[in-house]
Amino acid sequence: MQYRNDKYGTPLSMLGYGCMRFTKKGNAIDIDKAEKEIMAAYNAGVNYYDTAYIYAGSEAAIGEIFERNHIREKIKIATKLPQYLIGNGAGLDRYFNEELSRLRTDYIDYYLMHHLTDVAMWEKLKNVGILDWIRQKKAEGTIRNIGFSYHGNTDNFLKILNDYDWDFCQIQYNYLDEVTQAGVDGLKAAAAKGIPVIIMEPLRGGKLVNMLPDGARAAMRDSGHAWSPAEWAFRWLYNQPEVTVVLSGMNSVEMVEENVRIASETEAGSLTDSDFAVYDKVISAIKATEKVGCTGCRYCMPCPKGVDIPGIFRAYNTMFSESKSAGRFQFAQAVGLTKEPSFATQCIGCGKCEQHCPQEIPIREKLKEADKALRPLPYKVGINVVRKFMFREGKKSS
Ligand code: SF4
Ligand code: SF4
Repeated sequence: MQYRNDKYGTPLSMLGYGCMRFTKKGNAIDIDKAEKEIMAAYNAGVNYYDTAYIYAGSEAAIGEIFERNHIREKIKIATKLPQYLIGNGAGLDRYFNEELSRLRTDYIDYYLMHHLTDVAMWEKLKNVGILDWIRQKKAEGTIRNIGFSYHGNTDNFLKILNDYDWDFCQIQYNYLDEVTQAGVDGLKAAAAKGIPVIIMEPLRGGKLVNMLPDGARAAMRDSGHAWSPAEWAFRWLYNQPEVTVVLSGMNSVEMVEENVRIASETEAGSLTDSDFAVYDKVISAIKATEKVGCTGCRYCMPCPKGVDIPGIFRAYNTMFSESKSAGRFQFAQAVGLTKEPSFATQCIGCGKCEQHCPQEIPIREKLKEADKALRPLPYKVGINVVRKFMFREGKKSS
């Protein structure tokens, strides 16, 4: 494993463990399987583990695994304040103490304000006393490093970055997001301040692996490298010295081993001009097929009217990246034939979802467009007939 330093010179493994995608057993995390995966990573030198208050069961699961294996002192835990749930200053301690208890620890190595998208959110936190609270937690040693995870545009990122003496930050970054979100400008600005940058969504919610169009796969295949799509994505990140840790939500030991290998052998500045030409072809092929730049992050959910926003966009994109029938089939399975109808036509245009979308997608407009493509009249009638038969209702769907 290779390491890059944090603000105070502590080495962090270039591969970090994203703890939001463990395999489930029934409704709970399969803890024995997660333990094997985490320990495979730990034994290979991964020392950074990222979770959050809202990742269901994750904090408790990793807390148990670290305790069982007596490795708490040897690894770094990053977790996050659910700032969107904070009404007043009292909430700060309540959530933080609950997180300590779930994680079976009395300190957090890297603590983030979760999912800031603009300055207003940071200002709101300041108004409930976050600055004094951070000062107190750092003084008593229960928070070692303070940072924020970010999903808005570059301008707001720079404003938040420059408003406080942060120890680190976390951004969505990958070869499709070079100039969106915090972007390369945000990455470089943070690095220039000596702040380590943790990368999330390196595969853009799996899109850079599972949803690559044929043209993108062909460009990779013809490159002369035997790299998998995931390896292309990780190498692009590690090539940049400003990137400190890349998080990956690994849910198999094989995936851990593969990602460890890539993080162990990729050096900054190792990509060549011909490699970058491959990335250009891959990006062009993806952009040519993409109708909606939805990553499936679900920050827009739940919709008060029950619209399955990411499910609809995923199926809509599949119509163009695979085929119309594949997209409509996916739509029928994920959206059209679920018990509670979740069609785009249920949208009342309240706009709540758009306030939370890190990709700044005009969701209301795109939902209309997607619905038109996914449910032409014969298909709409067909789905309603099947729904009537399956659920004996049919009136709720539209
Ligand atoms: S605008 Fe439509 S899809 Fe978005 S939250 Fe409101 S009702 Fe739901
Ligand atoms: S529409 Fe936006 S917020 Fe919703 S899942 Fe897609 S990217 Fe995430």
